[in-house]
Amino acid sequence: MTKIDSTASRSVLVTGASRGIGWAIATRLSQRGDRVAGLSRSGAAPDSVLPLTGDLADWAATEAALAQAEAVLGPIEVLVCNAGVTRDGLIARMADQAWEEVLNVDLTAPFKLARRLARPMARQRFGRIVFISSVVALLGSAGQTNYAAAKAGLIGLARSLARELGGRGVTVNVVAPGFISTDMTAVLEPDQIEAYAQRIPLGRLGRAEDVAGAVDFLTSDQAAYVTGAVLPVDGGLGMGH
Ligand code: NAP
Repeated sequence: MTKIDSTASRSVLVTGASRGIGWAIATRLSQRGDRVAGLSRSGAAPDSVLPLTGDLADWAATEAALAQAEAVLGPIEVLVCNAGVTRDGLIARMADQAWEEVLNVDLTAPFKLARRLARPMARQRFGRIVFISSVVALLGSAGQTNYAAAKAGLIGLARSLARELGGRGVTVNVVAPGFISTDMTAVLEPDQIEAYAQRIPLGRLGRAEDVAGAVDFLTSDQAAYVTGAVLPVDGGLGMGH
């Protein structure tokens, strides 16, 4: 039976919920009334969120954490693949390890999580999957061939899955953030941030809550007819792509 009650509590798994965008997403969905589990290596999570410890590069550990979430929350109805890492460098000097580490965490882990949850979601005839990509998936980014390839891969993964699972009431969408103030962008120098802000039509970096709002929408009943979409949350930085 398709769920239509927008106030119904859903069981949610958010990866990378220990800080930044994932923390904001887990907080927002739990405030909406959902039962939320948050996975990360540190296992930190907002108070209202079931903390899970696991390394997405280690599938056995990730599967064990997922089983723990299912045991406590019930079958997962909403999957938000948010965790991501960068290992930047120009391609001529990029080690295989930097490529593999980023592809493993940013693309292979979302694939494996979606594969593991596709059948139960299809059986429930309800599911929401959201992949957190990046504006650089479409714009490209010098020094980030690994990261941009992984984030672009999420779009192909989402759109193919949207076609596979659409008939079963499962939507699959992508959020593409621009520059958001988190630990990931805290490494930038102030003059770099100023230079980026000048290229952003809204004139500022985004907040983690801006991304959480987009995820809230895509996982809500208001977005029941939205699938295969790439929703930019980038202050206009990537528009036209
Ligand atoms: P962040 O502050 O660096 O947080 C990354 C999160 O992922 C943390 O919770 C981290 O937790 C978790 N994580 C990293 N590696 C993991 C692993 N191997 N296994 C399990 N969890 C892992 O990043 P953010 O800025 O919030 O970014 C969140 C997502 O948005 C990422 O996919 C990023 O690529 C994307 N994004 C960010 C921006 C931006 O400007 N910030 C822009 C576009 C896209 P632990 O360290 O505890 O494991």
